[in-house]
Amino acid sequence: MFEFDKSQKQIQKAVKAFAKGEFDKELIQELEKKREYPKKIWEKAADLGFIGIHFPEDVSGASLGIFENVIVAEEMCRRDSSMGITLTMAGYASECLLRFGKDELKKKFLPKITEGEMLSGGAFTEPDNGADITLLSTTAVKDGNEWVINGKKSFVINGGSAAFYIVLCQTDQNSQPSTQGISMILVEADTEGLEANDVGKKLGINMMPMAELTFENVRVPLSNLIGEEGKGYDYIQKFFAESRILSAAQAVGTAEGAYDRAIDYIKGREQFNRPIAAFQSVRHKIADMCTKIEFSKLITYEAAQRFDNGKSDPKFSAMAKIAATNAAMEVTNEAVQLLGGYGYMTEYEIEHFYRDAKVLQIREGNINALKDVIANTAIGKLK
Ligand SMILES: Cc1cc2nc3c(=O)[nH]c(=O)nc-3n(C[C@H](O)[C@H](O)[C@H](O)COP(=O)(O)OP(=O)(O)OC[C@H]3O[C@@H](n4cnc5c(N)ncnc54)[C@H](O)[C@@H]3O)c2cc1C
Repeated sequence: MFEFDKSQKQIQKAVKAFAKGEFDKELIQELEKKREYPKKIWEKAADLGFIGIHFPEDVSGASLGIFENVIVAEEMCRRDSSMGITLTMAGYASECLLRFGKDELKKKFLPKITEGEMLSGGAFTEPDNGADITLLSTTAVKDGNEWVINGKKSFVINGGSAAFYIVLCQTDQNSQPSTQGISMILVEADTEGLEANDVGKKLGINMMPMAELTFENVRVPLSNLIGEEGKGYDYIQKFFAESRILSAAQAVGTAEGAYDRAIDYIKGREQFNRPIAAFQSVRHKIADMCTKIEFSKLITYEAAQRFDNGKSDPKFSAMAKIAATNAAMEVTNEAVQLLGGYGYMTEYEIEHFYRDAKVLQIREGNINALKDVIANTAIGKLK
């Protein structure tokens, strides 16, 4: 059983109060409709220290752990899944710089993330390489003291609005295995030859920008390499072991938000002269939803705690992501159902929790790829 300590309880209370005060239903619907970034709310969240709470103090973070970041994500997504996911992805992939980058680059970029002055993005997926990023079409070739990057990256969150991207590139096309020829390079968004094209409307989270990036002879200094050359694949797997915990926390909050709303509704709605919450089949549904949420919370907290204890475990992160995102999909689906026709209406909010839950199952590793991570640890790789 996880018991939050005093400081964690205070963080939870502060995030809850912030979300209650700032996440206005009408404003969110407006931002979603206009596909507009919640700039003011993001800046306030940063002022309160909620962006990059797990970053060290020397880059303006709070020197807290992933566990605290999980609390932030869960509480924000519980109040509103679209706003919560958007805000907690503001510094997406900047952890790659934090964990593996040089001090000089960290000092230049990370304080601007935690202070709410810059968004970042991770450019990993390519049009032809989605789940499989073992050999990339985006290349980076050395020319003098610069990298020259060519290629395309798809589905880049914060694309077009971010100040910089962490880009996975093939720096050696002949290396065996091909993964040892992959490197991670930081590219500033305003570099000549880099173009971001908005991907258009999505199923959900439309206030969060997304773009396809095209690199045409993009030149960046060799010093923009993150960590060591040829270690990009290793770094990205370590990053996913961290970021999948965040996805799981977003899923826990999304499920809880839909659950809270469903509980309120079924207590008040009467059919056949009884509140629908009095029907046994409805009560059993609630029992199932509640159980799924508690299970996913436990495994998400466990994954976060292992990470903070220096025992980052890709298997645990994968299990947390599968459990929590499946639970979010199932719970939000049941919640829509419990509201009947009203559940289908935008005004009652639950329908967007349901839409937002779906992407959490797709992003950062589909369920099959995650099961491979777990099985490889459990039984090893067999030919
Ligand atoms: C909202 C959103 C945000 C995203 N953000 C980012 C981002 O910021 N940066 C970024 O780089 N990418 C991002 N992505 C991309 C995302 O990570 C990819 O969509 C995902 O990796 C899958 O790649 P794909 O879409 O090409 O699907 P594919 O790789 O073509 O897979 C399609 C389906 O095939 C099946 N499949 C694939 N591999 C296996 C396997 N090994 N075993 C069994 N079945 C398999 C699965 O059912 C899978 O869902 C985002 C995507 C979305 C929708």
